Parts: sequence; C-alpha cells; structure tokens
Amino acid sequence: MIYMKIYKGLSASKGISIGNAFLLTGAIDNIEKVIVDDSSIEIKKFNDSVQISLIQIEKLKQKAINTVGKEESEIFEIHKMMVQDLDYQESVLSIISKENCNSEYAVYQTKNIFYKIFADMDDPYMNDRKSDVIDISDRIIKNILGNNEDHIEKNDSVIYFAVDLTPSATISLDKQKILGFVTKIGSSASHSAILARNLNVPAVVGIGDHFSDFDFSKCFIIDGISGIIIEDPDKETISEYRDKIKVIEEEEKKLSLHKDEPAITKDGVHIEINGNIGGVEDAESSNKHGADGIGLFRSEFLYLQGSDFPSEEVQFNSYKKVLEVMDGKRVIVRTLDLGSDKQASYFNIENEDNPALGYRAIRICLSQIGIFKTQLRALYRSSIYGKLAIMFPMIVSVEEIKKVKIIVEEVKKELDHEKIPYSNKVEIGVMIETPASVMISDKLAKEVDFFSVGTNDLTQYTMAADRMNANISEIFDPGNISIMRMIKMTVDNANKQGIWVGICGESASDTRFTKLYLSMGIKELSISPPMIPKLKEFIRRIDISEVRDRKLSMLY
Ligand code: PEP
Ligand code: MG
Repeated sequence: MIYMKIYKGLSASKGISIGNAFLLTGAIDNIEKVIVDDSSIEIKKFNDSVQISLIQIEKLKQKAINTVGKEESEIFEIHKMMVQDLDYQESVLSIISKENCNSEYAVYQTKNIFYKIFADMDDPYMNDRKSDVIDISDRIIKNILGNNEDHIEKNDSVIYFAVDLTPSATISLDKQKILGFVTKIGSSASHSAILARNLNVPAVVGIGDHFSDFDFSKCFIIDGISGIIIEDPDKETISEYRDKIKVIEEEEKKLSLHKDEPAITKDGVHIEINGNIGGVEDAESSNKHGADGIGLFRSEFLYLQGSDFPSEEVQFNSYKKVLEVMDGKRVIVRTLDLGSDKQASYFNIENEDNPALGYRAIRICLSQIGIFKTQLRALYRSSIYGKLAIMFPMIVSVEEIKKVKIIVEEVKKELDHEKIPYSNKVEIGVMIETPASVMISDKLAKEVDFFSVGTNDLTQYTMAADRMNANISEIFDPGNISIMRMIKMTVDNANKQGIWVGICGESASDTRFTKLYLSMGIKELSISPPMIPKLKEFIRRIDISEVRDRKLSMLY
C-alpha cells in the first residue's frame, strides 16, 4: 500500500532535498484536545518536556554568549524562569487533571491564557513578555510531541516546517543543518525565501491550510523547482529525485568553473555581480561563489540577534569583518531596515494596522537619531578596513536624504574631534524602493553617488500587493510593466547626473528580466550568493546592442 502524499505550494527557492521534518517554534497555531485514560502519563510527559526545554534553553544561552555576547543572552535566562514559573506550571497541571486531556493541549491553553495576561499589561517590559510565552510554550509542546532540538543534533540536517519564518526566528538556526523550508504562509519575496536562496536550499511557501495535514514523523521530498512537497515518498520516487539532484549538482559544478571570471556581455559591457548578505557567513559565501562585492548587507540582522540594540562595538566588529573578508571589494551596507516584517522585540514598536506603511527603516533613524548615529559611527570607523559604501532604505523625499547627509556630517565631525580615522571615499546611495523615490529620482540623483533598486518593496508598494501574501502572489509581479517603467525612469534620471544604478531586490537574479535591465542601463545586480555563477554565465551570452531596441520598445 502506498501512502505517499503530494502537496503543492509556491516555489520560493529552487533545488531539491530529501529528509526529515522539523517543526519550528511558531508553527503551533492549533492543538486539538484529546481525552486521555490516564492523566498521570500526561503529567509526566509535561514534566519531562520542561526538563528537556531547560537544557535546550541553557544551550541556546551559551551559544548566544559565544556569538553575540553576555548581555544579549539574558533573554534565555528569562525563558528559563518562565518555564519554571509556578503559576504557569500549575495552570498546565490543573488543565490536565480537570479536563483529563493531552498535555500538549494543556500547554497550548496555558499559552493563550498567559499571552492575554501579558498583552493586557501596560508596562512595556511586561507586555513584551507575551512573545516569550509563545516561544517557551511552543518549545514545551514540541518536546512533548517528540520533535525536539536534540533530534536535530543526532539526525543531521532537516527540512524546517513553520507557519511563517520571521527573520528573528531564523537567527538561532544552525545554517549547516538546513535542508529546506516549507511554510504555511509567505511568498517568494518573504524573508524565509530569501534566506533559503542564500543558503542554496529549496523552499516551498504558501502551503495554506494543508499545513495541518502534514505528518511530521514522515520523510519528505521538497522540490523547490515545481513547488511540490511529497510526504512519505516510495522507493521509486526517492530514486527518481536522487537522479534529479545529481543533474543539478553536475550543472552547478560546470557553472562554478567560470564563477570568478567577470560578467562581461558580448558587446563588452561589464556588469557588476554582487552578493546580498545578512552577515559574515554570507560574505564568505559571496566570495566562494565569485561575487564582485557586496551589493546589499541587510544590517538589520545584527539588530535581530539579541535582546537589545547592538552596541557600536558589536556593529563595528561585524562591518570590519565583512570588509576584511571582501578584501578590497566594495561592500554596500544598508542602514537598519527594522519595522514591518522585521521586528526586534526590544524596540517596542506599537502595533500598527499597516506596518509595511508604518514606522520603519529611515523613519526610525530620523526620529531616534541616537540609534542612527551609533550605526553611522560604527560604519565610518570600519571604513578604513576596505571599500565601504552606505545606502539608506525607504526614502520618500529629498528632505529625508538631506537630513541623513547632515547627520552623516555630524558623525564625521565627532570622529574628527575624537581623532578616530575613517575613509573619505565612502559612497552614499539611496534605495529606490518606494514609488515616491522613483518620481523624484531626478532630484535624489543630485544628492547621492548611486541608486540601488529594491524591487521587493517597489513591487509591493506599486502593485499595492503585500509581498508576504501568498494569495496575491500573481499580482506581486516585479516583471509588471509599471515596475519596469519605474526602473527605466530611475536609470534615465541617474544617467543625467552621471550616477550608476543597481538592483538588489530578488528580481535581480531572475533571468527573465536580465536583458531588459541591461538594455535600460543597469550596471550592477546584487543577488543571493549561490545564484551568482548562473547569472554571470547568462550575462556573458547577451549582446545588449542587439536586444536593446526590441526590449525597450516593449515598455511603451
Ligand atoms: C527590497 O525591498 O527589494 C530589498 C532589497 O530590501 P528588503 O527585501 O530587505 O526589504
Ligand atoms: Mg526593502
């Protein structure tokens, strides 16, 4: 009898993996109540799970001390206290005994009760603890269900399943042990998809309600090329997919032979191919895959790692390390782009009805100047260790960039005063990711050295289509003529001022668009590092002068 089941989602990162499932924290959004014969067994399961959870949290704490520092690891001490909290434990035990139910359901109910208690508190510190209640409760539930972290340690790599994968949830993952991602919600521009592409593992997102049908104890095949997930595959299917994996590996091997050669078109135009990174590991991967430099360092990832703002020193060390790893190649660091889907709990950003249109990115920096200056100081201090450029996200007016430049000058003056050296050659750029910035790109071009088009947000804001919403993924189309016209307008305005334009949104690696981008005059493409060899190869086969007229005529 064959029990193999096939599910279809959206392909968000190509490739194929075969392996065991691991349910991530935050994946537990509904636990069914089951009446049990012997509640003492459930009480034991809960108590055992508490002990396992405490060991796991201590391990995470030690890992955090070694990677981000002691202060940042304090959150795990709070988690340990919460797991041992007597009121919390009593609530679980009383639900098990009174309702004769399964222990995971009792924890789930307790999570909901305590979440509400914390959410109703006015004190911002206590209010913040509501997300910790979710975290520790989901951990206990997963351990009751036998889907725990030790399992990962014993069983190598796994396919991660999650309702959604927030950027902060990805921080604690061991990147070496990720075979792929499957998420209930999300689209190919979501940050889980971006992470998957950076790691060169497949991702299938937007599974929807089928998510609750999975049997996580089974083996899975995840096919990121066609967006298919196969649960409990039979032998023939596994062997068929093993063959497909071999073909992919062969192709990657061939491409890697020329990865370090530049991407020069047939008619002699050099296109800079850079890596999009979230930290030092990705910079190393960019080098490995033949990047000309870094086109987007999402610096907000430094802010998502701990329980408080990263200090100037922590940031300085990260920027310096990336510059050193890139060894003289240009590194474009984007200043923090927090808010919207990238929330740091300590930030205390109020709940917003429309966070993507809310208090985020440069808006935070221009209203909390201390935070901004700390980052700029760290950046300028690091600038002597390589070729640094800085760009600013979510710009919507010339006034904003003028204010930014004043603050930059203030920071430089402070450094002069303190006799701290910095480079005078740091290029300044603006991300073109709002329709407003496109429309004023003629004016913005007079203020900066370069533009980098963020097609993820530009598409979201132009098409009025949430980049995270799988239901409208067809409307979220960076290939739409309106987006293409916007990029063309941006490049034309930039050319008039003699500044260069690159693209760092996910569409930069989509070869369906490359000929049109190059025809417009795009000079740089910044993409997930593992995709670099393929894009370089594709560009080497283009003759821009041959395709330009035909491609541009499609825009009007
Ligand atoms: C973009 O919006 O295209 C972009 C590159 O930035 P992010 O995906 O981090 O919002
Ligand atoms: Mg963006």
